[in-house]
Amino acid sequence: MTPDNNSTPRAALLSVAQALDYIRASLKPVQGFEQRALRDGLGRVLATDISSPIDVPPHANSAMDGYALRAADLPRGGETALQLIGTALAGHPYSGNVGAGQCVRIMTGAKLPAGADTVVMQEDVRREGETIYVGSDHRQGAHVRQPGEDIASGQTVLSAGRQLTPADLGLLASLGVAEVKVMRRLRVAFFSTGDELRSLGETLEEGQIYDSNRYTLYGMLHRLGVEIIDMGVIRDRREDIAAAFRQGAAAADVLLTSGGVSVGDADYVKETLESLGKVSFWKIAMKPGKPLAFGLLGNTVFFGLPGNPVSSMATFYQIVQPALYQLMGQIGQQPLRLRVPCVTQLKKSPGRADYQRGILQYDAAGQLTVRSSGPQGSHVLSSMSRANCFIILPAESGDVEPGNLVEVQPFAGLI
Ligand code: AMP
Ligand code: MG
Repeated sequence: MTPDNNSTPRAALLSVAQALDYIRASLKPVQGFEQRALRDGLGRVLATDISSPIDVPPHANSAMDGYALRAADLPRGGETALQLIGTALAGHPYSGNVGAGQCVRIMTGAKLPAGADTVVMQEDVRREGETIYVGSDHRQGAHVRQPGEDIASGQTVLSAGRQLTPADLGLLASLGVAEVKVMRRLRVAFFSTGDELRSLGETLEEGQIYDSNRYTLYGMLHRLGVEIIDMGVIRDRREDIAAAFRQGAAAADVLLTSGGVSVGDADYVKETLESLGKVSFWKIAMKPGKPLAFGLLGNTVFFGLPGNPVSSMATFYQIVQPALYQLMGQIGQQPLRLRVPCVTQLKKSPGRADYQRGILQYDAAGQLTVRSSGPQGSHVLSSMSRANCFIILPAESGDVEPGNLVEVQPFAGLI
């Protein structure tokens, strides 16, 4: 599907949910797979389901240190005497058969010997030399882990779309899976716009500031495991912007820009974009981060983020990141949200959803609480840096008083 200017009104005011719905309906995962060694699959998205090539555990084994025997030998009452014929250790199975009236000393994890079907814990027997006395109080199959009890051969263990975690690597290793087929990495190019911006290493003249958005963008993209193409700072000139758009669109699956999308300084940026592709300019009913452009430049997906440093981060996390996950083919891993009491007052005027920056912590009584991380201006990166969560206040909400419950989204849960 192609986003176009007919289906969303120009500069429409959209809720975050509407923007996400629109994006979700517009994008398809990139094509292309790679075969990777298991470790290189960390953070990558599975291109196919993985089913287990083996039973886990692969053989019946003991869950306890004790004696392996035949349940048929267990007495109805009193005790029975069994002849000890050998030992089974983990990795060193007993190769013989356990016959009637016999038992084998067995350790946790050792393969259950042929003939045996039950393990009796060592604490529950009496041993006299090579004779083991067992009581009546045991169940057939006790303390035996059956083959395939954890995972049966052929069972799907991870589905296509799964972004592999450290636990997944271990799980696949336990199945003997040495390679994984993963989606190819998404290529994301970005640049900043603004005549006031200087790159690190340059000297600031009057009225100039350092470009910080390329650093926050780098960090957020790096965490997603995408290929990053940093195109630097582009001056506020139509020809330069147009050239950068062409270059970015040719090189990447996704092009992100920051700045120049707010009303006023951005008119010719808008014109250039509209002449090169199909771009919708939106006003998102969120704070910070009102202006956002979304569209296509050829086959390249385009997002124009606001220039204010906190606005560009908030729109990235709330809107761009879900879109990138969709393009990466990732399915089903949702960021965590919690409801906790807020211990500070939060100023909020009804109208737009607020993504305030907060600090989630336990209070002295062990209750999880959140407080504001400081001044909430969309240019104040220090309070973003101090924060460990967004405090999400719905559009209709007004001020929050201490003790009110609020919804938070931990940064650590932004997957
Ligand atoms: P704009 O969206 O271009 O109107 O920019 C809005 C505000 O964000 C202005 O104060 C810009 O100086 C600032 N800004 C824009 N881009 C960046 C950037 N890459 N790094 C830091 N601040 C920026
Ligand atoms: Mg600007």
